[in-house]
Amino acid sequence: MDQTVYFDGAASANASPLRDRYGRDIRYLRVSVTDRCNLRCFYCMRENVTFLPRADVLSLEEMERLCRVFIRLGVTKLRLTGGEPLARPGIVGLAARLGTALNGGGLDELTLTTNGMLLARHAADLAAAGVRRVNVSLDTLDAANFTRITRHPGLGQVLAGIAAAQAAGLAVRINTVALAGVNDMEYDAMLAWCGEHGCDMALIEVMPLGARDRSGADGALSLDRVRARLEERWTLIPSPARSAGPSRYVTVAETGRRLGFIMPLSHSFCADCNRVRLTCTGALVLCLARDEGIDLRAVLRASDDDARLAAAIVAAVADKPAAHRFDLPVALRSLGQPMWQLGG
Ligand code: SAM
Ligand code: SF4
Repeated sequence: MDQTVYFDGAASANASPLRDRYGRDIRYLRVSVTDRCNLRCFYCMRENVTFLPRADVLSLEEMERLCRVFIRLGVTKLRLTGGEPLARPGIVGLAARLGTALNGGGLDELTLTTNGMLLARHAADLAAAGVRRVNVSLDTLDAANFTRITRHPGLGQVLAGIAAAQAAGLAVRINTVALAGVNDMEYDAMLAWCGEHGCDMALIEVMPLGARDRSGADGALSLDRVRARLEERWTLIPSPARSAGPSRYVTVAETGRRLGFIMPLSHSFCADCNRVRLTCTGALVLCLARDEGIDLRAVLRASDDDARLAAAIVAAVADKPAAHRFDLPVALRSLGQPMWQLGG
């Protein structure tokens, strides 16, 4: 196919070049801008993790180039993640440059998932870059529990980051990984806190990804059961809002805030999956649990020709797997890369 065809003007709303062979249009790119992190959440990273050599990691200019090609191919939503995205020097500058694609440049939303540790410092600049919403990962409101989960003190810093984000006009969603015996006694208090502080919340099923210090099954909690328990105290009204992803939402009548249940393990969401991931080394990961990724860095570094890059992306996306295989017994499936490398 003629490579120039991909850049024949902006992608139209109903004919994405990034359509896979199951008819799914890829509109959402999550970009891991670094594998490094200033926390060590026990379900995500080993305490003494070895990070990638810097030469393997894309420069911010390379990331920008790749993101622009994705946007021209029809991606309308970009999420910067990691590792900890705000721990990468220059990341706010990258956000500002990507933000120029908002307001008619092809991008509808530029957003970020962060642990919040550096959010107070960067919130105003992120808002100026065009970011309107951030997801802040916070598994507990108890300082000692925070230190136990993340192996680092810092609850106050995260709460200050959330306050700064809101003061800068950003909407905040709290992401909480559901961990049996670790934070399941806190969900009522966290829902109430979110109500008082004007935040939505999402509970996330822990996924058996990559190598950590504990096994994948450790701490796993059924969100169906969590939901049933929450319904004893809260009125949860099913929400018509549905993202093309593993989240199902309710509105908490008592607070008016939304609560999401993110359940890739127990509820397959693959049929309407519209997302792909880019690792910080330039690997395109088509499915969270299925592959090691297609090497876009080699294509990127081999030539300045964006049409080649676009052709590689289009060809790769066409092969997006039909579904994840979290249902297989652990011994039969590849555990894939951990979240901090994939960009959760
Ligand atoms: N460092 C940032 C943060 O924590 O928000 C961004 C990267 S982190 C990998 C993105 C999200 O993945 C966080 O909400 C984190 O809680 C979640 N996560 C990490 N490991 C996970 C796992 N094994 N299962 C489910 N969620 C996980
Ligand atoms: Fe770092 Fe986020 Fe992983 Fe926690 S979940 S260790 S904050 S990358």
